[in-house]
Amino acid sequence: MDPTRVHITTYGCQMNRLDADLVAEVLRASGAEVVAAPPQANVLLFLTCSVRGHAEDRVFSNIGALGGRKRRRPGLVIGLLGCMAQQFGEEIRRRAPLVDIVCAPGRLAELPDLIARARAGAEATALDPRRRQAGAEAFAALDEALDGVEVRRLLGRPSAREAYVTVMRGCDNFCTYCVVPNVRGPERSRPPHSVLEEVRRLVGQGARRITFLGQAVNQYAAEEDGRRWDLADLVAGAAETPDLARLSFITSHPRAMTERLAAVFRDVPKVVPYLHMPAQSGSDAVLARMNRGYTAGEYEQRVARVRTLRPGIAIESDFIVGFPGETAEDFEATVDLARRVRFAGAFVFKYSPRPGTPAAERYRDDVPAAEKRRRHSRLLALVKEIAREQRSVPSHL
Ligand code: SF4
Repeated sequence: MDPTRVHITTYGCQMNRLDADLVAEVLRASGAEVVAAPPQANVLLFLTCSVRGHAEDRVFSNIGALGGRKRRRPGLVIGLLGCMAQQFGEEIRRRAPLVDIVCAPGRLAELPDLIARARAGAEATALDPRRRQAGAEAFAALDEALDGVEVRRLLGRPSAREAYVTVMRGCDNFCTYCVVPNVRGPERSRPPHSVLEEVRRLVGQGARRITFLGQAVNQYAAEEDGRRWDLADLVAGAAETPDLARLSFITSHPRAMTERLAAVFRDVPKVVPYLHMPAQSGSDAVLARMNRGYTAGEYEQRVARVRTLRPGIAIESDFIVGFPGETAEDFEATVDLARRVRFAGAFVFKYSPRPGTPAAERYRDDVPAAEKRRRHSRLLALVKEIAREQRSVPSHL
């Protein structure tokens, strides 16, 4: 049999992109070659995202387009990994019959074995059967598999001097529109010593800027040697690493923006003056239906506090427009919030119901598509204009 040559296509968030790099290292450690272009590969892996329907549609269409290549090369193995695998489960094989490997995000450490099985023509599925409960154990296996794996490739992304470190996985917030708690399992923070060791190792390999990643990164909470650690402790600990120049963390949940964490922007000079803290809406009624756990006023208070502690900090947000029940007044409240806060940038998304989420089960998707598009364009134009007025792209990005 030919040596295993793998190509990985990644969709979705930064955590997925980091997982792709880590998966590549696990595969290399198992003797596989990771190639840069799909035609060189005999195993095509798709690391997927379920957060938006549009991303799922792209995955199905990209895999569907491989029919001709698979017919010409019967030994070609196609793997669908990550959130969509967990979200759709075995149904994936009906929707995308070309798929040979189905692997949930928490079971990526098993990929070398799954690839070997698929290449031998055997069944290759690894899902978390108990979903949320299984997630924590499965991610522990992934961390263990990655422990000690050479991570030099991370230094190539996003630049030779920058590296990402996942400090927590999963989420317990249950925002009603979001699939993450189901597909990525319960919130689980990595032990502080393991994170700090990884930071030292990456800096030893040449990284000068580190970004901590987590779905709600500021909910980081761990206990080690009888001491409790939050994200402020972890940031302060990492900042002591000699030769590390800059440190940042994404994504922060407004509810968990504590005074202790806000203070790191003032007290830890290595922390970059940048905060990504999604508001999602400016309407308290919509925020309540989204189960976000704060009001627009509380959001603004947290922004104001951070700006007092670090004047000039660039604050970015995400917004969802057209959430079920969002009235014209609710949308205007979002526009007003964006005007008042003056974000350095924002991602604006049109709501689409995700199967299995509370919002999809509880609420009717009642904002017409044309109205969603109108709200999306209007808010996007506003945030772009404000960002431009503030010299558009912040210098740290
Ligand atoms: S905080 Fe909300 S939106 Fe973010 S991952 Fe958790 S459930 Fe999803």
